[in-house]
Amino acid sequence: MVDKRKLKKALYTAAQWTWGLPQTLAGAGLYLRHRKDPHFDYNGAKVTAWDRDSGVSLGKFIFVPAGKREPVKVSDFLLEHEYGHTIQSLLLGPAYLLLVGIPSFAWNRLPYFDRKRKKTGKSYYSAVFERTASEFGSKAAKRSGKGRKKKKEKKKKKS
Ligand SMILES: [Zn+2]
Repeated sequence: MVDKRKLKKALYTAAQWTWGLPQTLAGAGLYLRHRKDPHFDYNGAKVTAWDRDSGVSLGKFIFVPAGKREPVKVSDFLLEHEYGHTIQSLLLGPAYLLLVGIPSFAWNRLPYFDRKRKKTGKSYYSAVFERTASEFGSKAAKRSGKGRKKKKEKKKKKS
């Protein structure tokens, strides 16, 4: 019998390494630099809980703040959001960095946008590439049963 979840993950990975190759390569490079940080799988994405204070999503690789406490507890909200960026990577392929990566980086880092957000009272997630990432991410989480409303996390046994 074909395990649907495994198949989905395999397809997701294959697509990120081909159609989404530029950002996945960049993500792999970043992953190697942070290989000593904790990692885990999230619906096919490789997550790294790092010590920086913001998240980044590059193809198959997601980086989220680990938080100060032990054991590592990453924000489900951010995880879903960053996973949404990996879906954008699947949709946009080679155009991802240009249409999401660069604008998102600028929106996140440039003091100009920070001032603008404060002045207008607009949320960070109001930008179209951020809002859609959250939407995609929460849909994917619901489909996979990892929705934020669920308290218990089912762990699938390896067979
Ligand atoms: Zn984002």
